[in-house]
Amino acid sequence: ATPTAVMVATGKGASQGVLIKGGNALENAHKVKTVIFDKTGTLTVGKPHVVSTMIFSSMSIEELCDIAAAAEANSEHPIAKAVVEHYKKLHEKYGSNRENISEVSDFEVHPGLGVSGSVSGKVVLVGNKKFVQAYNVLVSPKVEDYMMESEQLARTCVLVAVDGMIAGAFAVTDPVKPEAEQVISFLRSMSISSIMVTGDNWATATAIAREVGIERVFAETDPLGKAEKIKEFQWESINTSKEVSALCIRDPRAAFPHFLGTMKGVAVAMVGDGINDSPALVAADVGMAIGAGTDVAIEAADIVLIKSNLEDVVTAIDLSRKTLSRIR
Ligand code: ADP
Ligand code: MG
Repeated sequence: ATPTAVMVATGKGASQGVLIKGGNALENAHKVKTVIFDKTGTLTVGKPHVVSTMIFSSMSIEELCDIAAAAEANSEHPIAKAVVEHYKKLHEKYGSNRENISEVSDFEVHPGLGVSGSVSGKVVLVGNKKFVQAYNVLVSPKVEDYMMESEQLARTCVLVAVDGMIAGAFAVTDPVKPEAEQVISFLRSMSISSIMVTGDNWATATAIAREVGIERVFAETDPLGKAEKIKEFQWESINTSKEVSALCIRDPRAAFPHFLGTMKGVAVAMVGDGINDSPALVAADVGMAIGAGTDVAIEAADIVLIKSNLEDVVTAIDLSRKTLSRIR
């Protein structure tokens, strides 16, 4: 595209809340055949809240909530905020005489897993099954049942282990964005396929995907795993191995999926909001960050969706398609 066309399109995008960081992003966006979506905060609202509590010990609900909130108090994770918020609400409701959340020491964040710390002399773990099992905490069939029930309802189950035993659990729910389903089906009508990649568990991820109409899901994926997935789909969308090896002989740069993909006119977009998503946003041909997301994600992206509305994924691709077809 000519510099003028890029300027016009960038200005138009900005007025619609789509911040395009350069000519390259604009050029690549019309080639997008695959959009990979993060789940939490991208397809979902990103403000989970506790909808159920289960006790698996002699602890009272108040005690469990306090211990869990204490362990999560210093974490920035949306689940942590949900647990702390839940404690505060419980406190308001019953007016218990405990004014503040207990103190935590030896606090540690375990990305994609949970948090650990020491509360009132007890060792506390708050996180997923993989996390507590790594500390040799037994997850009983009763706990498994509760987890399965929650996950089938698209909820994420948060386990609380105290001194090596599961004391209780919470189920948190994070509703999908109201526009999500329509955007996925609109993309399909543009011959663009949508995929979900998330750090959350398979059952919850699958349930959310079903709600929004996404058929392909990759769950329990860490940040680098998300970037790896992008590369796989760059290859998949290119997809003709014979042609690829012929091209590699002619031009060694063709060994890089990004180069080959853009040369062949296909591109993969990633939409995400978290620190977790930044390697994938960089790896994608077009990285799109949710405006309400973390600064790290916004910096890593080529396009920022200021309004945090998924409809603007379509706006961006559309703008690129129109700009580039006008030039030809
Ligand atoms: P996503 O890709 O969905 O944004 P993350 O990679 O942040 O997810 O986390 C993956 C999973 O790790 C969460 O679904 C949750 O089970 C667990 N987890 C991470 N951080 C916390 C925390 N602070 N408290 C409880 N669970 C956590
Ligand atoms: Mg996220």
